[in-house]
Amino acid sequence: MFEKVKIINCPIYMNKSDIKKCIDLLGKDYTKIKCNIYFINNEIDFKNYAKDKLEDSYYEYKSGSLHGLCCSESSGASTIFVFIKNTISSYGVERCYYQKSILRVLYHELRHAYQHKELNLPDYKKELDADMFAAKIMQIYDKEINEIFKNYELYK
Ligand SMILES: [Zn+2]
Repeated sequence: MFEKVKIINCPIYMNKSDIKKCIDLLGKDYTKIKCNIYFINNEIDFKNYAKDKLEDSYYEYKSGSLHGLCCSESSGASTIFVFIKNTISSYGVERCYYQKSILRVLYHELRHAYQHKELNLPDYKKELDADMFAAKIMQIYDKEINEIFKNYELYK
C-alpha cells in the first residue's frame, strides 16, 4: 500500500512485513508520504546508514535512548531514523513493549513527514501534534498491533 515508504533497515526482533502492516494502519492519507526509514540498532547500523546523512553534532546521539528523527527535504521526501540502541534492555521483548515503544516513535516521525508534506503547522505546534498523533494511533489500533506482534513473544 505504501509504495513510497521504504524500510531500509529493520529493528532486531521486528521484520519488514510486520512494520509495513503497522504503517498501513495509518490509512490512505499517508500514502502521500515519500520517505526512507532506517532503524539504527547499533554502531554498525549507525556507520552504514546514518553517519553520512547527519551533521557531525548528531553523532553523540547514537548511544542515547530510544528516539527518532525526521529529516525533510524541499522535494517533499523525508528520511526517518529511529535510534533504538539499548531499547531491548530497557523493555525486553515480551508482551510487545519493545515493539510498541519503537512503533510509537515511528508513528511520531511519520507524522512529522506528513506535517512537512500536507500540514502547515507553526513549528511550536509540531511536536505536540506528532506526540498526540502517535498516542492516538497506538490507542485506536491497539488490538491490531497486538495481533501483528503476538508471535514475537517467542523471542523471550
Ligand atoms: Zn518530534
